[in-house]
Amino acid sequence: MNGAASSADRLTRAFIHLDRLTHNVRLLQNAVGHRSLWPVIKADAYGHGAEIVAHHLLRLGYNTFGVADVEEAVALRQAGIDTTIITLSATLPEHSEALVACGCEPVVCTEEMVEALARAAERAGRRVAVHVKVDTGMGRVGIRPDDVLAFLDRCRAYPALRLRGLMSHFPRADEADKTFSREQIGCFRRIVEVTARYGIEVRHMANSAALLDLPDSHFDAVRPGIALYGLPPSAAIANPRLQALKPVLEWKTRITFLKEVPAGVGLSYGHAFHTARSSLIATVPVGYADGLHRNLSNRCDLLVRGLRCPQVGRITMDMSLLDVTALRGRVRLGDEVVIIGRQDDEEITADDLAEKLGTINYEVVSAISHRVPRIAVGG
Ligand SMILES: *Cc1c(COP(=O)(O)O)cnc(C)c1O
Repeated sequence: MNGAASSADRLTRAFIHLDRLTHNVRLLQNAVGHRSLWPVIKADAYGHGAEIVAHHLLRLGYNTFGVADVEEAVALRQAGIDTTIITLSATLPEHSEALVACGCEPVVCTEEMVEALARAAERAGRRVAVHVKVDTGMGRVGIRPDDVLAFLDRCRAYPALRLRGLMSHFPRADEADKTFSREQIGCFRRIVEVTARYGIEVRHMANSAALLDLPDSHFDAVRPGIALYGLPPSAAIANPRLQALKPVLEWKTRITFLKEVPAGVGLSYGHAFHTARSSLIATVPVGYADGLHRNLSNRCDLLVRGLRCPQVGRITMDMSLLDVTALRGRVRLGDEVVIIGRQDDEEITADDLAEKLGTINYEVVSAISHRVPRIAVGG
Protein backbone atom coordinates (compact mmCIF):
# COMPACT_ATOMS: atom_id res chain seq x y z
CA MET A 1 0.00 0.00 0.00
CA ASN A 2 1.43 3.37 -0.93
CA GLY A 3 -1.29 5.41 0.69
CA ALA A 4 -2.55 6.80 -2.60
CA ALA A 5 -6.30 7.37 -2.73
CA SER A 6 -8.20 5.36 -5.31
CA SER A 7 -11.66 6.09 -6.58
CA ALA A 8 -12.95 2.99 -4.79
CA ASP A 9 -12.09 4.76 -1.52
CA ARG A 10 -14.70 7.41 -2.17
CA LEU A 11 -17.38 7.57 0.47
CA THR A 12 -20.16 7.92 -2.08
CA ARG A 13 -20.40 4.79 -4.20
CA ALA A 14 -22.85 2.89 -6.37
CA PHE A 15 -23.04 -0.84 -5.72
CA ILE A 16 -23.94 -2.97 -8.72
CA HIS A 17 -25.54 -6.25 -7.64
CA LEU A 18 -24.53 -8.77 -10.28
CA ASP A 19 -26.71 -11.52 -8.80
CA ARG A 20 -29.74 -9.30 -9.40
CA LEU A 21 -28.62 -8.57 -12.95
CA THR A 22 -28.44 -12.33 -13.52
CA HIS A 23 -31.92 -12.74 -12.06
CA ASN A 24 -33.38 -9.99 -14.26
CA VAL A 25 -31.81 -11.11 -17.51
CA ARG A 26 -32.97 -14.70 -16.93
CA LEU A 27 -36.48 -13.48 -16.20
CA LEU A 28 -36.54 -11.44 -19.42
CA GLN A 29 -35.00 -14.27 -21.42
CA ASN A 30 -37.76 -16.58 -20.15
CA ALA A 31 -40.32 -14.12 -21.49
CA VAL A 32 -38.86 -14.29 -25.01
CA GLY A 33 -37.94 -17.97 -25.16
CA HIS A 34 -35.34 -18.86 -27.79
CA ARG A 35 -35.12 -15.36 -29.26
CA SER A 36 -31.95 -13.34 -28.99
CA LEU A 37 -31.75 -10.85 -26.16
CA TRP A 38 -29.46 -7.92 -26.82
CA PRO A 39 -28.78 -5.97 -23.64
CA VAL A 40 -28.84 -2.20 -24.10
CA ILE A 41 -25.92 -0.72 -22.15
CA LYS A 42 -25.81 2.80 -23.57
CA ALA A 43 -25.10 5.77 -21.28
CA ASP A 44 -22.69 3.67 -19.22
CA ALA A 45 -25.35 0.98 -18.80
CA TYR A 46 -27.91 3.51 -17.59
CA GLY A 47 -25.40 4.70 -15.02
CA HIS A 48 -24.61 1.19 -13.77
CA GLY A 49 -21.16 0.97 -15.37
CA ALA A 50 -21.09 -0.47 -18.90
CA GLU A 51 -17.83 -2.30 -18.34
CA ILE A 52 -19.06 -4.16 -15.25
CA VAL A 53 -22.44 -4.92 -16.80
CA ALA A 54 -21.04 -6.06 -20.15
CA HIS A 55 -18.44 -8.36 -18.60
CA HIS A 56 -21.05 -9.97 -16.39
CA LEU A 57 -23.56 -10.46 -19.20
CA LEU A 58 -20.80 -11.85 -21.38
CA ARG A 59 -20.09 -14.47 -18.71
CA LEU A 60 -23.79 -15.37 -18.85
CA GLY A 61 -23.52 -15.92 -22.60
CA TYR A 62 -24.86 -12.63 -23.97
CA ASN A 63 -22.72 -11.42 -26.84
CA THR A 64 -24.52 -8.55 -28.57
CA PHE A 65 -24.80 -5.18 -26.88
CA GLY A 66 -26.51 -1.92 -27.81
CA VAL A 67 -24.79 1.41 -27.10
CA ALA A 68 -25.54 4.95 -28.25
CA ASP A 69 -22.54 5.84 -30.38
CA VAL A 70 -19.03 5.00 -31.49
CA GLU A 71 -17.40 6.63 -28.45
CA GLU A 72 -19.29 4.27 -26.16
CA ALA A 73 -18.40 1.35 -28.41
CA VAL A 74 -14.69 2.24 -28.38
CA ALA A 75 -14.75 2.43 -24.58
CA LEU A 76 -16.16 -1.10 -24.47
CA ARG A 77 -13.54 -2.37 -26.91
CA GLN A 78 -10.84 -0.86 -24.71
CA ALA A 79 -12.39 -2.70 -21.78
CA GLY A 80 -11.91 -5.96 -23.68
CA ILE A 81 -15.45 -6.48 -24.96
CA ASP A 82 -14.76 -7.99 -28.38
CA THR A 83 -18.25 -9.23 -29.25
CA THR A 84 -20.98 -7.56 -31.34
CA ILE A 85 -21.77 -3.94 -30.53
CA ILE A 86 -24.67 -2.13 -32.19
CA THR A 87 -24.62 1.68 -32.17
CA LEU A 88 -28.25 2.74 -31.81
CA SER A 89 -28.14 6.50 -32.41
CA ALA A 90 -27.96 8.07 -35.83
CA THR A 91 -24.41 9.21 -36.60
CA LEU A 92 -22.67 11.21 -39.30
CA PRO A 93 -20.45 9.99 -42.17
CA GLU A 94 -17.42 11.37 -40.32
CA HIS A 95 -17.88 8.53 -37.82
CA SER A 96 -17.81 5.80 -40.44
CA GLU A 97 -14.06 5.09 -40.26
CA ALA A 98 -14.17 4.70 -36.50
CA LEU A 99 -17.31 2.56 -36.66
CA VAL A 100 -15.70 0.21 -39.17
CA ALA A 101 -12.38 0.18 -37.30
CA CYS A 102 -14.01 -0.92 -34.07
CA GLY A 103 -16.16 -3.48 -35.85
CA CYS A 104 -19.46 -1.92 -34.78
CA GLU A 105 -22.81 -2.69 -36.32
CA PRO A 106 -24.29 0.77 -36.86
CA VAL A 107 -27.96 1.60 -37.17
CA VAL A 108 -28.42 3.39 -40.48
CA CYS A 109 -31.20 5.51 -41.86
CA THR A 110 -29.52 7.89 -44.33
CA GLU A 111 -28.00 7.26 -47.73
CA GLU A 112 -25.03 9.45 -46.80
CA MET A 113 -24.21 7.14 -43.92
CA VAL A 114 -24.69 3.98 -45.95
CA GLU A 115 -22.32 5.23 -48.62
CA ALA A 116 -19.70 6.47 -46.14
CA LEU A 117 -19.75 3.18 -44.24
CA ALA A 118 -19.47 1.13 -47.42
CA ARG A 119 -16.49 3.20 -48.61
CA ALA A 120 -14.79 3.01 -45.21
CA ALA A 121 -15.29 -0.75 -45.15
CA GLU A 122 -13.87 -1.10 -48.69
CA ARG A 123 -10.82 0.94 -47.72
CA ALA A 124 -10.32 -1.25 -44.67
CA GLY A 125 -10.79 -4.39 -46.72
CA ARG A 126 -13.69 -5.61 -44.62
CA ARG A 127 -17.45 -5.69 -44.60
CA VAL A 128 -19.67 -3.71 -42.29
CA ALA A 129 -22.93 -5.10 -40.93
CA VAL A 130 -25.73 -2.57 -40.56
CA HIS A 131 -29.20 -2.38 -39.05
CA VAL A 132 -31.71 -0.45 -41.13
CA LYS A 133 -34.01 1.60 -38.97
CA VAL A 134 -37.58 2.21 -40.04
CA ASP A 135 -39.69 4.88 -38.40
CA THR A 136 -43.00 3.08 -37.78
CA GLY A 137 -44.17 5.80 -35.42
CA MET A 138 -41.38 6.88 -33.08
CA GLY A 139 -41.06 10.11 -35.01
CA ARG A 140 -37.35 10.45 -34.34
CA VAL A 141 -34.84 8.81 -36.67
CA GLY A 142 -35.57 6.17 -39.28
CA ILE A 143 -36.61 5.89 -42.89
CA ARG A 144 -40.28 6.12 -43.75
CA PRO A 145 -42.01 2.78 -44.37
CA ASP A 146 -42.71 3.76 -47.99
CA ASP A 147 -39.02 4.30 -48.65
CA VAL A 148 -37.75 1.00 -47.25
CA LEU A 149 -37.47 -0.93 -50.51
CA ALA A 150 -35.62 1.84 -52.32
CA PHE A 151 -33.30 2.23 -49.35
CA LEU A 152 -32.54 -1.49 -49.23
CA ASP A 153 -31.82 -1.48 -52.96
CA ARG A 154 -29.27 1.26 -52.38
CA CYS A 155 -27.70 -0.73 -49.56
CA ARG A 156 -27.51 -3.83 -51.72
CA ALA A 157 -25.50 -1.94 -54.31
CA TYR A 158 -22.51 -1.94 -51.94
CA PRO A 159 -20.82 -5.33 -51.65
CA ALA A 160 -19.03 -4.20 -48.47
CA LEU A 161 -22.36 -3.73 -46.72
CA ARG A 162 -24.05 -6.63 -44.98
CA LEU A 163 -27.78 -6.22 -44.25
CA ARG A 164 -27.81 -7.66 -40.77
CA GLY A 165 -30.86 -6.10 -39.17
CA LEU A 166 -34.19 -4.46 -39.82
CA MET A 167 -35.42 -2.56 -36.81
CA SER A 168 -37.88 -0.10 -35.38
CA HIS A 169 -38.58 1.51 -32.01
CA PHE A 170 -41.64 2.18 -29.81
CA PRO A 171 -42.57 5.59 -28.42
CA ARG A 172 -45.59 4.42 -26.40
CA ALA A 173 -45.14 0.75 -25.45
CA ASP A 174 -44.93 1.74 -21.78
CA GLU A 175 -48.50 3.08 -21.75
CA ALA A 176 -51.53 1.08 -20.63
CA ASP A 177 -53.26 1.63 -23.97
CA LYS A 178 -51.33 -0.39 -26.53
CA THR A 179 -53.39 0.63 -29.57
CA PHE A 180 -50.66 2.68 -31.21
CA SER A 181 -47.97 0.10 -30.43
CA ARG A 182 -50.07 -2.66 -32.01
CA GLU A 183 -50.45 -0.55 -35.15
CA GLN A 184 -46.68 -0.17 -35.24
CA ILE A 185 -46.21 -3.92 -34.93
CA GLY A 186 -48.62 -4.38 -37.86
CA CYS A 187 -46.69 -1.85 -39.90
CA PHE A 188 -43.36 -3.50 -39.08
CA ARG A 189 -44.76 -6.95 -39.89
CA ARG A 190 -45.82 -5.76 -43.37
CA ILE A 191 -42.34 -4.34 -43.91
CA VAL A 192 -40.81 -7.64 -42.83
CA GLU A 193 -42.99 -9.43 -45.40
CA VAL A 194 -42.20 -7.17 -48.34
CA THR A 195 -38.47 -7.20 -47.57
CA ALA A 196 -38.21 -10.99 -47.21
CA ARG A 197 -36.15 -11.33 -50.39
CA TYR A 198 -33.36 -9.07 -49.13
CA GLY A 199 -31.96 -11.75 -46.86
CA ILE A 200 -31.94 -9.54 -43.77
CA GLU A 201 -30.81 -11.69 -40.87
CA VAL A 202 -32.52 -10.27 -37.77
CA ARG A 203 -35.70 -8.31 -37.24
CA HIS A 204 -36.00 -6.46 -33.93
CA MET A 205 -38.13 -3.78 -32.33
CA ALA A 206 -38.90 -4.51 -28.66
CA ASN A 207 -37.61 -2.35 -25.82
CA SER A 208 -38.28 -3.37 -22.20
CA ALA A 209 -41.93 -2.27 -22.18
CA ALA A 210 -42.72 -4.12 -25.41
CA LEU A 211 -40.76 -7.17 -24.30
CA LEU A 212 -42.96 -7.36 -21.19
CA ASP A 213 -46.35 -6.32 -22.54
CA LEU A 214 -46.35 -6.99 -26.30
CA PRO A 215 -45.26 -10.56 -27.15
CA ASP A 216 -46.09 -9.92 -30.82
CA SER A 217 -43.21 -7.46 -30.90
CA HIS A 218 -40.50 -9.99 -30.12
CA PHE A 219 -39.62 -10.99 -33.72
CA ASP A 220 -36.03 -12.38 -33.82
CA ALA A 221 -34.36 -10.30 -31.12
CA VAL A 222 -35.29 -7.95 -28.29
CA ARG A 223 -33.39 -4.92 -26.94
CA PRO A 224 -34.19 -4.39 -23.27
CA GLY A 225 -32.49 -1.68 -21.28
CA ILE A 226 -34.22 -0.41 -18.16
CA ALA A 227 -35.79 -3.75 -17.14
CA LEU A 228 -32.37 -5.44 -17.08
CA TYR A 229 -31.46 -3.03 -14.32
CA GLY A 230 -34.56 -4.08 -12.41
CA LEU A 231 -36.45 -0.84 -12.97
CA PRO A 232 -39.95 -0.53 -14.44
CA PRO A 233 -40.26 1.20 -17.84
CA SER A 234 -43.34 2.88 -16.36
CA ALA A 235 -46.04 2.31 -13.75
CA ALA A 236 -48.45 1.15 -16.47
CA ILE A 237 -46.79 -2.16 -17.37
CA ALA A 238 -49.22 -5.04 -16.92
CA ASN A 239 -46.86 -8.02 -17.04
CA PRO A 240 -46.61 -9.61 -13.57
CA ARG A 241 -42.93 -10.36 -14.23
CA LEU A 242 -42.31 -6.69 -13.49
CA GLN A 243 -42.88 -7.30 -9.78
CA ALA A 244 -40.15 -9.94 -9.78
CA LEU A 245 -37.45 -7.64 -11.19
CA LYS A 246 -34.78 -6.63 -8.68
CA PRO A 247 -33.10 -3.20 -8.73
CA VAL A 248 -29.45 -3.75 -9.58
CA LEU A 249 -28.08 -0.45 -8.30
CA GLU A 250 -27.73 0.82 -4.76
CA TRP A 251 -26.31 4.26 -4.12
CA LYS A 252 -24.76 4.87 -0.74
CA THR A 253 -22.67 7.37 1.14
CA ARG A 254 -21.48 7.88 4.73
CA ILE A 255 -21.82 10.52 7.41
CA THR A 256 -18.74 12.75 7.54
CA PHE A 257 -19.90 15.33 10.07
CA LEU A 258 -22.50 15.59 12.87
CA LYS A 259 -23.57 18.66 14.79
CA GLU A 260 -26.22 19.80 17.24
CA VAL A 261 -28.04 22.88 15.99
CA PRO A 262 -30.46 24.97 18.07
CA ALA A 263 -33.91 25.93 16.82
CA GLY A 264 -34.21 28.76 14.31
CA VAL A 265 -30.89 28.33 12.52
CA GLY A 266 -30.62 28.63 8.72
CA LEU A 267 -28.76 25.79 6.98
CA SER A 268 -26.80 25.63 3.71
CA TYR A 269 -26.93 28.05 0.74
CA GLY A 270 -29.77 30.51 0.78
CA HIS A 271 -30.85 29.25 4.18
CA ALA A 272 -33.64 27.43 2.38
CA PHE A 273 -34.19 25.48 5.59
CA HIS A 274 -34.37 26.70 9.20
CA THR A 275 -34.38 24.28 12.12
CA ALA A 276 -37.79 24.26 13.80
CA ARG A 277 -36.40 22.66 16.97
CA SER A 278 -33.02 21.81 18.35
CA SER A 279 -31.76 19.30 15.79
CA LEU A 280 -29.00 16.83 15.10
CA ILE A 281 -27.74 17.47 11.57
CA ALA A 282 -25.52 15.12 9.58
CA THR A 283 -23.42 16.02 6.55
CA VAL A 284 -22.96 13.51 3.72
CA PRO A 285 -20.48 13.89 0.83
CA VAL A 286 -22.98 13.68 -2.02
CA GLY A 287 -24.24 16.60 -4.06
CA TYR A 288 -25.55 17.59 -7.42
CA ALA A 289 -22.16 16.99 -9.03
CA ASP A 290 -22.63 13.33 -8.11
CA GLY A 291 -26.08 13.30 -9.70
CA LEU A 292 -28.23 14.08 -6.67
CA HIS A 293 -30.40 16.65 -8.38
CA ARG A 294 -30.54 20.03 -6.66
CA ASN A 295 -34.30 20.14 -7.15
CA LEU A 296 -34.55 17.38 -4.53
CA SER A 297 -33.42 19.89 -1.89
CA ASN A 298 -35.70 19.72 1.17
CA ARG A 299 -37.82 17.15 -0.68
CA CYS A 300 -36.24 13.73 -0.25
CA ASP A 301 -35.35 11.27 2.47
CA LEU A 302 -32.22 9.20 2.92
CA LEU A 303 -31.90 6.08 5.04
CA VAL A 304 -29.74 5.95 8.14
CA ARG A 305 -29.85 2.98 10.53
CA GLY A 306 -33.04 1.78 8.85
CA LEU A 307 -34.85 5.07 9.34
CA ARG A 308 -36.00 7.61 6.75
CA CYS A 309 -34.26 10.90 7.51
CA PRO A 310 -35.25 14.09 5.72
CA GLN A 311 -32.68 15.85 3.59
CA VAL A 312 -32.63 19.50 4.68
CA GLY A 313 -31.31 22.71 3.12
CA ARG A 314 -30.03 23.14 -0.40
CA ILE A 315 -28.17 20.21 -1.88
CA THR A 316 -24.76 21.64 -2.79
CA MET A 317 -22.21 20.53 -5.36
CA ASP A 318 -20.39 18.12 -3.08
CA MET A 319 -22.35 17.85 0.16
CA SER A 320 -25.85 17.61 1.56
CA LEU A 321 -27.40 17.77 5.01
CA LEU A 322 -29.72 15.36 6.79
CA ASP A 323 -31.88 15.79 9.84
CA VAL A 324 -30.98 12.80 12.02
CA THR A 325 -32.54 14.12 15.23
CA ALA A 326 -34.67 10.97 15.47
CA LEU A 327 -31.44 8.98 15.77
CA ARG A 328 -29.86 10.98 18.59
CA GLY A 329 -27.61 8.73 20.63
CA ARG A 330 -27.61 6.05 17.95
CA VAL A 331 -26.03 7.73 14.95
CA ARG A 332 -22.24 7.88 14.50
CA LEU A 333 -19.69 9.45 12.20
CA GLY A 334 -19.06 7.07 9.29
CA ASP A 335 -22.55 5.55 9.39
CA GLU A 336 -23.88 4.28 6.08
CA VAL A 337 -26.48 6.45 4.36
CA VAL A 338 -28.63 5.08 1.54
CA ILE A 339 -29.67 7.40 -1.29
CA ILE A 340 -31.16 4.64 -3.48
CA GLY A 341 -31.56 1.16 -2.06
CA ARG A 342 -32.65 -0.72 1.05
CA GLN A 343 -31.81 -0.60 4.71
CA ASP A 344 -33.69 -3.03 6.96
CA ASP A 345 -37.38 -2.63 6.06
CA GLU A 346 -37.08 0.73 4.34
CA GLU A 347 -36.38 1.28 0.66
CA ILE A 348 -35.85 4.30 -1.54
CA THR A 349 -36.17 3.62 -5.25
CA ALA A 350 -35.03 5.49 -8.33
CA ASP A 351 -38.75 5.91 -9.02
CA ASP A 352 -39.26 7.68 -5.67
CA LEU A 353 -36.68 10.29 -6.66
CA ALA A 354 -37.97 10.47 -10.25
CA GLU A 355 -41.49 11.17 -9.06
CA LYS A 356 -40.34 14.07 -6.90
CA LEU A 357 -38.36 15.46 -9.82
CA GLY A 358 -41.16 15.04 -12.36
CA THR A 359 -39.01 12.74 -14.45
CA ILE A 360 -38.42 9.02 -15.02
CA ASN A 361 -36.18 6.47 -13.31
CA TYR A 362 -34.05 6.30 -16.50
CA GLU A 363 -32.88 9.87 -15.93
CA VAL A 364 -32.22 9.41 -12.22
CA VAL A 365 -29.85 6.46 -12.62
CA SER A 366 -28.15 7.65 -15.79
CA ALA A 367 -27.46 11.01 -14.12
CA ILE A 368 -25.33 9.45 -11.36
CA SER A 369 -22.05 11.03 -12.40
CA HIS A 370 -18.69 9.53 -13.22
CA ARG A 371 -17.35 10.81 -9.92
CA VAL A 372 -19.26 8.00 -8.20
CA PRO A 373 -17.33 4.72 -8.45
CA ARG A 374 -19.36 1.67 -9.47
CA ILE A 375 -18.54 -1.31 -7.30
CA ALA A 376 -19.58 -4.78 -8.46
CA VAL A 377 -20.97 -6.97 -5.69
CA GLY A 378 -22.77 -10.30 -5.52
CA GLY A 379 -20.81 -11.78 -8.42
C1 LIG B 1 -32.63 2.81 -25.32
C2 LIG B 1 -33.15 1.93 -26.37
C3 LIG B 1 -33.71 0.68 -26.08
C4 LIG B 1 -33.94 0.21 -24.65
O1 LIG B 1 -35.07 0.86 -24.11
P1 LIG B 1 -35.62 0.49 -22.65
O2 LIG B 1 -36.88 1.25 -22.54
O3 LIG B 1 -34.58 0.96 -21.69
O4 LIG B 1 -35.78 -0.97 -22.61
C5 LIG B 1 -34.08 -0.13 -27.13
N1 LIG B 1 -33.93 0.28 -28.42
C6 LIG B 1 -33.41 1.48 -28.74
C7 LIG B 1 -33.28 1.87 -30.15
C8 LIG B 1 -33.02 2.36 -27.73
O5 LIG B 1 -32.51 3.54 -28.06
